[in-house]
Amino acid sequence: MSGGANDPYDVLGVPREADADTIKRAYRKLALQNHPDRNPGDADAEERFKTISEAYATLRDPDARRRYDTFGHVGRGPAGARPDFSHVDWRVIFQEADIPMDWSRRGDIPTSGNVVFDALFRGVTSMFRQAGLLPGEHREVRLKLDVATAREGGRRRVHVPGPVRCGTCRGLGHDAGGRCATCGGSGQLQRGLDVDVTIPAQVRHGARLRLAGLGGPGQPPGDAFVELLVDVPPGARVEGRDLFTEVFLTPLEAARGVVTTVLGIPVRLGGGVRDGQRVRVVGGGLGGDLVLTVRTDIWRGLGRAALDTARSFVAGLRGRAAHDERKGP
Ligand SMILES: [Zn+2]
Repeated sequence: MSGGANDPYDVLGVPREADADTIKRAYRKLALQNHPDRNPGDADAEERFKTISEAYATLRDPDARRRYDTFGHVGRGPAGARPDFSHVDWRVIFQEADIPMDWSRRGDIPTSGNVVFDALFRGVTSMFRQAGLLPGEHREVRLKLDVATAREGGRRRVHVPGPVRCGTCRGLGHDAGGRCATCGGSGQLQRGLDVDVTIPAQVRHGARLRLAGLGGPGQPPGDAFVELLVDVPPGARVEGRDLFTEVFLTPLEAARGVVTTVLGIPVRLGGGVRDGQRVRVVGGGLGGDLVLTVRTDIWRGLGRAALDTARSFVAGLRGRAAHDERKGP
């Protein structure tokens, strides 16, 4: 007799006379291939994975297999009803299929019972992942950059949250010298990883750097992505590769012209600029331009001028310190 669409022999692709070993190997292979995490975007993958596991649960148990061979179903209900898996211990199913899972850390999930597989599913997935049988998860990290770093590039340290694959032993748990000292042999870093990343010059706001293989452990390991966010002062904004901000001048400066520093670069504003006038500083953005809106305001203009004075004073001190060093013994 045949059980139709869910015939466990068909599901596992084994002949009816297959021995226990053949059935086990077929299940292991299919379970690993059909796990939903290996089939992103495939809505049926979870159902298929369950069907495969249930087919194996039927055929590995000599009683259930005999009942199926005789009656075409193993359930207590009418033929074709969903089989009764209340007696199945799913730990045994995965153990037998040599799928290494650490059930000791999963005291909270049921391991047998009829509705079990749905309840079990998340736990199973996380154990598959911990055992390195699934593709690793990607990790997302955000990194704020000041305008100067976004413009000129630099190096920054970021923390990638764990668990991540150990980069020292490449997740193997050992290297030429024996057990990996970085991860203690587990191949994973539970606390995550500090990584020095190189920021390219003229970075685009929202650009992402990919750190291949530095994501969650798995086969293949996931990647870590660092999203670069340009942190501009209040009143400024980033649009694509251009920077926009206001610059405050005293009425006298507006009339006579002034050299000031805007978002880290010196800007010369000619005499006769009007309140509300837009000035484009070509190349002053992040690979684009710096667009200024001039505001004439005596108090805020004086505040800005005081900052300019302080900056040039500090720059003067630095210049003198460098000079003194050169003169040193
Ligand atoms: Zn290691």
